[in-house]
Amino acid sequence: MITNLWLGTSNVPASDGATFPVYDPATEEHLVDVADASSADWSKALDLASAAQSEWAQWSPQSRSDILREIYDEVMARKDEFAELMTREMGKPFAQAQGEVDYGAGYLRWFAEEAVRLPGRFAQSPAGNGTMTIQPEPVGPVLAITPWNFPLAMATRKIAPALAAGCTVIVKPAELTPLTMLLLGEVISGVLTRHGAPDGVVSIVTTTKAKDLSKELQADKRLRKVTFTGSTRTGKILVEQSAQHLQRTSMELGGNAPFIVCEDADMDLAIEGAIAAKMRNNGEVCVAANRFLVHSSRAQEFTDRLTQRFQGYVTGHGMEATTTLGPLVSAQQRDKVAQLVDAALAHGATAAIGGIRPEGRGYFYPATVITGVGSDEDILHEEIFGPVAVITTFEDLDEAIAKANDTDFGLAAYAFTENVHTAQRLANELEAGMVGINRGALSDVAAPFGGVKQSGFGREGGTEGIEEYVNLKYVARP
Ligand code: ADP
Repeated sequence: MITNLWLGTSNVPASDGATFPVYDPATEEHLVDVADASSADWSKALDLASAAQSEWAQWSPQSRSDILREIYDEVMARKDEFAELMTREMGKPFAQAQGEVDYGAGYLRWFAEEAVRLPGRFAQSPAGNGTMTIQPEPVGPVLAITPWNFPLAMATRKIAPALAAGCTVIVKPAELTPLTMLLLGEVISGVLTRHGAPDGVVSIVTTTKAKDLSKELQADKRLRKVTFTGSTRTGKILVEQSAQHLQRTSMELGGNAPFIVCEDADMDLAIEGAIAAKMRNNGEVCVAANRFLVHSSRAQEFTDRLTQRFQGYVTGHGMEATTTLGPLVSAQQRDKVAQLVDAALAHGATAAIGGIRPEGRGYFYPATVITGVGSDEDILHEEIFGPVAVITTFEDLDEAIAKANDTDFGLAAYAFTENVHTAQRLANELEAGMVGINRGALSDVAAPFGGVKQSGFGREGGTEGIEEYVNLKYVARP
């Protein structure tokens, strides 16, 4: 296991020798201690990133593409090693962790392909008195801050476009899940060294002092961009801090996705979609269905069938082959889910299944279906981030859309209908960056992932994802 920082290609302990512990959420066992960086360490990372930036920007797109492709190949060759680390540090079942390696590595391959296709533009001035070229240039050193729910994928979808565009990057993974990223550091560092890239193109800084890190790095005018996935609360702090030097920012923040099941929905599709949108990653997903809005005539059928499916979940350690529902990532996360459910039940809601926090070791919470929730209940307004499906009803499409949009967030939305006009209306009127029609899984390396409203701004993946890492320069000529 790699437990030291990557300051460029050097794998070193924190300069003051500090460490912090990492635990297995299924057993609460101490796994290992990891370097706890402080100011001297992240300053060094920025010195290196800043020194490497101009040389790295001049590397040919093809070399940057080749490097990304080799990183992809090596991650895929070591898939099970990555997957096991993820399962141990954050709890997801091993098969899902393998799925995350496929998905996360997919961004490395996708942006290896995009690196050689970064478009510019040439045009004649309409007045006929000159020409213009519009050329993309890397924004410069990037700080990437990532969450614990997808320890690999949330980072690769930032690192890959940044490298493709010619930026250097400092990565700050979540303190609950530092191990996956430190292993990726080994792979990246090996490939960059083999290619003779300047030292400092990628650094990985694990720390418990995230607040100080962002404050100090953002106060340094050499840092030119912050890309973040995490809570809306933290995103707002980072945007505020970006004002001092007007750093560019991309913010992929919280969600509160509605999942609408219309009167005419294909119930088989809706149930499969609900399982994908709710239960993947133990429900700890920013695009997870947070509110099921079901037409009143189909609510009983939907509730019964979802409850039946939830009965089949087997709780346990993610490394056990039979496990389909792992623990939540921490005691704090499990307690938050339990509190939301307990409050709803205390105010008159009913649990069709689950709803009881288990005793014993590990931060487990059962697959839960709740009905009869009042419209003011916190569980409808906060991101649950757990395996809890809350089902409410509607009578007509206007009501469904109004309820779906009655949130400060706007990341993902899902809708199930067999009517093409209803589908188009929902796609148009749902206030979200991403809409799944008759589909409960929408993440795709080729699509622009991101939100509106307090779910943030900026897009990751697709042909759009690389634009977050380039500035456009307009050159006028006679
Ligand atoms: P969550 O509630 O999902 O853990 P957070 O926004 O708190 O979401 O955390 C997401 C990531 O942001 C983690 O890597 C965390 O360490 C980091 N983080 C939290 N607060 C700050 C901050 N003030 N500056 C920089 N990073 C932060």
